[in-house]
Amino acid sequence: MKYLFSYWKDFCKQLRKAEVIFLFFDYDGTLTPIVKKPELAVLSHKMKCLLKKLASQKWAQITVVSGRSLEDVKNVVGLNRIIYAGNHGLELEGLKLKYTNKKALNIRTDLNAIYKRLVENLSTYTKLLIEHKGLTLSVHYRLEKNKKRLNRIFKILKNTTDIYVKQKKIRLARGKKVVEIRPRINWNKGKIVLWLLEYFKQKISLRNTLSIYLGDDTTDEDAFNILRKRGVSIFVGSPKRKSLAKFYLRNTEEVADFLEKIINYRQL
Ligand SMILES: [Mg+2]
Repeated sequence: MKYLFSYWKDFCKQLRKAEVIFLFFDYDGTLTPIVKKPELAVLSHKMKCLLKKLASQKWAQITVVSGRSLEDVKNVVGLNRIIYAGNHGLELEGLKLKYTNKKALNIRTDLNAIYKRLVENLSTYTKLLIEHKGLTLSVHYRLEKNKKRLNRIFKILKNTTDIYVKQKKIRLARGKKVVEIRPRINWNKGKIVLWLLEYFKQKISLRNTLSIYLGDDTTDEDAFNILRKRGVSIFVGSPKRKSLAKFYLRNTEEVADFLEKIINYRQL
């Protein structure tokens, strides 16, 4: 990965040419630093102002693609003129667009059953946060530091979900201190980004567009993969990490700098 700010001049050439810039952001760890509990991840005043400013530009279209539920991500960002994609792209809303993955809807009964059993089976582990996000579940274990207890938690998780995994209804995915229980369907952040880019292509007949994706976690890799050839992929975090992204920025402050630089550049 290359440090984006070391290639700023090259990047500006792309910025200059683009009639519209499609900016895709993950939320946690990208627009806000990773915190102990999901509800503590609040946009900084600076970041919110920058996003708001960008969202009001004719040449920019922002989409936030999060693992949170659609309602949740809409609430935490709280800005208009932005497209929101929740549950890793299983649902999307904004600018008169609406999408819900039908296959994901079909396994909701199973998901409810799994949720109920997980809450029961893990009730003694009070540091866990088991979250029902409508179309997916999340088990956050950031606050549980005890290794033995964690191993037991993973075992219970596996035992509780195994039958559904074998029936190919769900799959488990690891993120930063979180296990996600998702419908087993071929849909992810990359697919929803592609879906949107196709939509934009039909809707707006522009020759020069630039698509940029910023993310910090394993679930963002699918989107990096899509953007590798047709845009700019930016990993947020340590460059030592293996990632499909072409560029990196070190942290969310640098993401804010990046947005500021784009705004300043385009307004010149
Ligand atoms: Mg993230």
